[in-house]
Amino acid sequence: MALIVQKYGGTSVGSTERIKNVAKRVARWKAMGHDVVVVPSAMSGETNRLIGLAKEISATPSPRELDVIASTGEQVTIGLLAMAIQEEGLKAKSYTGSQVRVLTDSTFTKARILQIDDERMRKDLAEGNVVVVAGFQGADENGNITTLGRGGSDTSAVALAAALKADECQIYTDVDGVYTTDPRVVPEARKLDTITFEEMLEMASLGSKVLQIRSVEFAGKYKVKLRVLSSFQDEGEGTLITVEDDKNMEQPIISGIAFNRDEAKLTVLGVPDRPGIAYQILGPIADANIDVDMIIQNVGVDGTTDFSFTVNRSEYTKAMAVLEQVKQHVGAREIVGDNKTCKVSAVGVGMRSHPGVASQMFRTLAEEGINIQMISTSEIKISVVIDEKYLELAVRILHKTFGLDQA
Ligand code: ASP
Ligand code: MG
Repeated sequence: MALIVQKYGGTSVGSTERIKNVAKRVARWKAMGHDVVVVPSAMSGETNRLIGLAKEISATPSPRELDVIASTGEQVTIGLLAMAIQEEGLKAKSYTGSQVRVLTDSTFTKARILQIDDERMRKDLAEGNVVVVAGFQGADENGNITTLGRGGSDTSAVALAAALKADECQIYTDVDGVYTTDPRVVPEARKLDTITFEEMLEMASLGSKVLQIRSVEFAGKYKVKLRVLSSFQDEGEGTLITVEDDKNMEQPIISGIAFNRDEAKLTVLGVPDRPGIAYQILGPIADANIDVDMIIQNVGVDGTTDFSFTVNRSEYTKAMAVLEQVKQHVGAREIVGDNKTCKVSAVGVGMRSHPGVASQMFRTLAEEGINIQMISTSEIKISVVIDEKYLELAVRILHKTFGLDQA
């Protein structure tokens, strides 16, 4: 007998019909003799609707009240799901985050979990209940309701699994696992049986939206066995997210090709090559709350240098405006930008022990005449910024060249 935490995303609980299906799945796990804690999201679209209501009242809603409102989506699904499980002839009890006591800090709309009280859940489980806990929410030390950021019920589930020392945390979603790349771009993409935490983190931060990044960090830190599965299929092992396994000689060098369509590039031309320049350019960008992704500074020639960086496309105009302001001050010749760029990355822990991955990637792109505008690397990832019109082509050929295409 095992203790399983199952998280169901918004589409999986998107209607009462689907909630009944979730209850049937839970009943099957119970029938196998397992203890089950279920963590649903709000019905799909519901959190957006609730936040929309708040914005109809106020353009700048109070974060505390926003959390009071946004957290209700999950309060509805836990009640409905507990009832549906009872209809299956099982005992079930639902709890909001604050009832369990998912203790968080007080950062409304993006709170962090500090501690989870597992006593009551254990007692309910021991009495044969399925325990249904609202995802996405908790309460701070003063009892204020908090939420964990969009997509936060993944993190709720992982944190509950860690607190309960569950045998496995299963994330049920509308895809049947983690893929080598987006199957909409590359039909030959394959589902991965396993992926390491590190790779999953890179894939998630590079735009693969299967899991909230923070939930992956959490699972890695607390060694929670995490599995992504489809809630629309009865069979299948999904994708298991694992710690790196040195003994696994079959491990491919590259596990996936990730991409991000929303990359915009800004370049400050002809700035004096002296200490403090990077700070003078990026300081104001950070002050404007703009996240910077890649950064490149050229080797200085004749006492000046060029400085480029990328931001999310939605922040391009704002970043341009900031640069126009600092231009004079830093003594730059010109500011140029391009918001028609994208980022493509090869990810794989196998890179550590296999030199030559970068050159293979660059050669493959060159053979297709794709110009690389920027490059950045980490131990397990190589990213390039290219013209957005080559995105699909680049992803397809890299997927192929690294042997990821389905046979
Ligand atoms: N319902 C919340 C959201 O839409 C949390 C979640 O779905 O994970 O962000
Ligand atoms: Mg989600």
